Amino acid sequence: VFCEADIEHVVLTTESIQDNPLVRLHSECITGDVFSSLRCDCGEQLHQSLQQIASSKNGLLIYFTNHEGRGIGIGNKIKAYALQDQGFDTVDANHQLGFPTDVRDFKVAKDIFDFFGVQTIRLLTNNPEKIRHMTEMGINVSETLSFAIAPNPHNESYLSTKKKKLGHL
Ligand SMILES: [Zn+2]
Repeated sequence: VFCEADIEHVVLTTESIQDNPLVRLHSECITGDVFSSLRCDCGEQLHQSLQQIASSKNGLLIYFTNHEGRGIGIGNKIKAYALQDQGFDTVDANHQLGFPTDVRDFKVAKDIFDFFGVQTIRLLTNNPEKIRHMTEMGINVSETLSFAIAPNPHNESYLSTKKKKLGHL
């Protein structure tokens, strides 16, 4: 557990960590991770990551506990879901609530990588923005591994918005 002000982030690692580990920067999503909601692909990404990290024998997953709803919190995310039911997409719904597209902060990852002596990582993500966050904090990304998630009728438009508006793979 890594503390950042009053926030506790959770790091799950393989038995040992060498440089260039397989890394997942996972943003908390109670609905997807815990309750298997079909509205997003977070739970599936979490489980695919854990499997791939475990078989890599050199990897870690950082679970950002303050990233719910791209940083707006669970209460606001549920409000955003209500707006999505009225026809707003995931990005516009956040704007309607007065939030920017993404309010997540990845800074604590640098302290975590320093703690493990990691300077270069292989990143599991569909979000090219995360590569930029890592590069800006001085972490080299040697490789990006994306997820192939099969859409379901409940998350199809959410996944396509992430692709069109947020540049996701
Ligand atoms: Zn989610």
